[in-house]
Amino acid sequence: MKFDHVLCHYSEIGLKGKNRRFFEDRLRQNILKTLKIRCPDSAESVKRYHGRLVIELKQESADLDSIENALKDVPGLAYFAPAFESKQELNTLKEDAHALLSDSEFESFRITARRANSNIPLKVKTVNEEVGTHIVETMKKKVNLTQPGANCYIDMFEDRAFVYPERIPGPGGLPVGVSGKVVAMLSGGIDSPVAAYLAMKRGATVVFVHFHSVPYTTPASIEKVREMITTLNRFQMRSKLYLVELAPIQKQIMTETEARYRVLIYRRFMLRIAEQIAREVDAHALITGESLGQVASQTLVNMEAVGRVTNMSILRPLIGFDKQEIIDKARDIGTYDISIQPDQDCCSLFVPDHPATKARPEQLERQEVLLDVDKLVETGLTSAEIEIID
Ligand code: ATP
Ligand code: MG
Repeated sequence: MKFDHVLCHYSEIGLKGKNRRFFEDRLRQNILKTLKIRCPDSAESVKRYHGRLVIELKQESADLDSIENALKDVPGLAYFAPAFESKQELNTLKEDAHALLSDSEFESFRITARRANSNIPLKVKTVNEEVGTHIVETMKKKVNLTQPGANCYIDMFEDRAFVYPERIPGPGGLPVGVSGKVVAMLSGGIDSPVAAYLAMKRGATVVFVHFHSVPYTTPASIEKVREMITTLNRFQMRSKLYLVELAPIQKQIMTETEARYRVLIYRRFMLRIAEQIAREVDAHALITGESLGQVASQTLVNMEAVGRVTNMSILRPLIGFDKQEIIDKARDIGTYDISIQPDQDCCSLFVPDHPATKARPEQLERQEVLLDVDKLVETGLTSAEIEIID
């Protein structure tokens, strides 16, 4: 059976009133854009119905595999289903269910009908029973409601009806854009791209900031973040990246401050600069890839001392994740192989093997007295190069 539509479902929890309309419109636009980029000429239209979106496929040119792969990357989709349009009429439903099930080898089956509301004349129970009986009689198969060998779903809404064999899980979450904007601090490591992904998955549009120490390091980390963002663009399509020079700041920190505090002071400058960028782009939180206790700079005490420099929320989506869990997620979203390519981390420049693990804010402030903080932040901001990656 050749599918002519894809039914797209989101999770409805918390969606009320105007909120729902906003959410559905954004999800619809995101689906359209994703299809346009990843499988051009596949969709005739994407229409909104109560509780679902319906993609009408261009029969001649639609490639279902690439459509499925694209939709798996659209946050906000709970599941989707390539489907065949039938009619709200028992005989047609019987024929179409028969045709659908004829595509697979099975011994037992289940019919799962659903209607959007009670205005639809056909009752779910009637459809399940009548269509089920038809399959038993014509195909000589058994009904199994708990572990069917094959499924036939029947979805009825407004004046339409569809049959389909399976529900393909989407990423869940919320459509990118409904939650507003955040600035994600992206290093070349494994963690920060996963943190950025989790923010996108909850509907945030992510603007990226990367600090580098070129010319004291190679530009490898810059290439890596570009590649990571290209991969993460599967979820938000288009990204803005700020590349900020940390080297001039590091030089002063190196001459003026005690070695064991340096990483933390680098981090404080990163946060100050990221906050300014966030204000500039109208973002309302900073995202980092920190995970509690993973490395010396990520103890509770150090995170507090570092975070003291900004009033903006710092969100750490990975705070409770183990390294292995982060690695698994990074593999899932496709950033792991990029992260493990060698680069030179800006924060390993001019720092000792044994950094402070319990720095108090006052200790860091005392170190910074010797620095012209405002001017260094300004230097960083002026050095920023902005790239659009799409
Ligand atoms: P990651 O794998 O994300 O690099 P990590 O375990 O190496 O994390 P750190 O190097 O301590 O951890 O960095 C903690 C967080 O600080 C990173 O997740 C990232 O959000 C931010 N960060 C570190 N270095 C940079 C950088 N050069 N540019 C932007 N953000 C950075
Ligand atoms: Mg790192």
